[in-house]
Amino acid sequence: MSARILVVDDIEANVRLLEARLTAEYYEVLVAYNGPEALRIAAEEKPDIVLLDVMMPGMDGFEVCRRLKEAPDTRHLPVVLVTALDGRNDRITGLEAGADDFLTKPIDDVMLFARVRSLTRLKTVIDELREREASGRRMGVIAGVASRLGGTGGRILIIDDNERQAQRTFSELAIEHRPVVEGLPEKAMATAKGPVDLVIVNAVAKGFDGLRLAGQLRSEEATRHLPILAIVDFDERNRLVKALELGVNDVLAKPIDPQELSARVRTQIRRKRYTDYLRNNLDHSLELAVTDQLTGLHNRRYMAGQLEALVKRAALGGGPVATMLIDIDHFKKINDGFGHDVGDEVLREFAVRLASNVRAIDLPCRFGGEEFVVVMPDTRLDDAQRIAERIRLHVAGSPFRVMGGTELLTVTISIGVAATQEADTPEVLLKRADEGVYEAKAAGRNRVVARAA
Ligand code: GH3
Ligand code: MG
Ligand code: MG
Repeated sequence: MSARILVVDDIEANVRLLEARLTAEYYEVLVAYNGPEALRIAAEEKPDIVLLDVMMPGMDGFEVCRRLKEAPDTRHLPVVLVTALDGRNDRITGLEAGADDFLTKPIDDVMLFARVRSLTRLKTVIDELREREASGRRMGVIAGVASRLGGTGGRILIIDDNERQAQRTFSELAIEHRPVVEGLPEKAMATAKGPVDLVIVNAVAKGFDGLRLAGQLRSEEATRHLPILAIVDFDERNRLVKALELGVNDVLAKPIDPQELSARVRTQIRRKRYTDYLRNNLDHSLELAVTDQLTGLHNRRYMAGQLEALVKRAALGGGPVATMLIDIDHFKKINDGFGHDVGDEVLREFAVRLASNVRAIDLPCRFGGEEFVVVMPDTRLDDAQRIAERIRLHVAGSPFRVMGGTELLTVTISIGVAATQEADTPEVLLKRADEGVYEAKAAGRNRVVARAA
């Protein structure tokens, strides 16, 4: 996964060094030598990550960070503050300025790429979310909630048998999250399958193999999507690299720095929230994909899938499937006489009457234009015919109120009904129903014709 990274530092040699390392790993690098330039490039070029030096003359890194996080079109950009080695106070100020992460000088390559990878993943889901939101808003469907998806209140599972370290981690996180501590790997695996937003695992634990556990979390279906933060010892280079190869989302150096802990945890929780949100919304867009926008009934595509499954089941000895095809009579006259919008009103009102006069197991769908189909599972032809007759009466029986109730229109429909017989395909079934409609129209409209064959 490649990304565009904006490197900001007032010292040219620092910029060049970072640029060389990042380009060698195929990242695209943009550079800025002072705060105002960084703000301009961030706004114009929309990088994926900003690596921001704290110490700069004029506008310092904190101020740049603050302004990036205040502007609506840059606030979603992940910002990594580059601080001095003992920059504890810098980190606190940085967190307050909205920084997403920290790196200390001199910058360690493994850490640099771990950070960049972790934040690129976050950025990818945020981008997708923003895109969906933008199109969702255009469709007027998805509410704008991205800003409410914060990085706090997370359910965090701390897997660590080092009691003192576990307690410190717990106390630090309990300020804004809901952590639990588990010292035994088997119990931890069980807990991880429950509602958890993030796992922090000690990869250098005495009593169990933390890396093996991380691998197990990654491979099991119930836990594979869980973000994992591994506690590592930076002197144990091999384990650090191994952890990252295993796909842990981020690493945390021992001894644990509380600011780093909370910054990294927030990043992971935010990403988890975004991803969950996207997944839920995917369900929502799937719902959109099966629904007719004008009437809210199922659409033709959905109907086709359902009908096919039911017809197959019927062929294997399941109950018969009936379909009715409904066509509004002289609908063109309504459009011509009152306009297309009134035509739409009639379609919507018809959909309501249709949906409230079929049974709960029936599937009323808009087939297209002014044609509708009702799929009726476990239904014999004569029962389907009775229901069709009921629908016909409920349409013709009382006029449609349109144009805000100022106009009353009498609407009638013609219905063809068919039920499965041996070896019927969905196409054959619908064709018979269509022949019924044709007959009904020819016989004067406003009637039901059931076709036995
Ligand atoms: P018949 O009784 O023979 O069915 O006559 P008809 O006028 O209902 O049939 P025809 O198929 O000639 O006309 C259907 C009309 O429905 C034509 C088309 O412009 C209109 N129509 C199709 N979809 C929509 C829609 O979404 N909204 C509106 N308002 N009209 C639509
Ligand atoms: Mg028609
Ligand atoms: Mg018609």
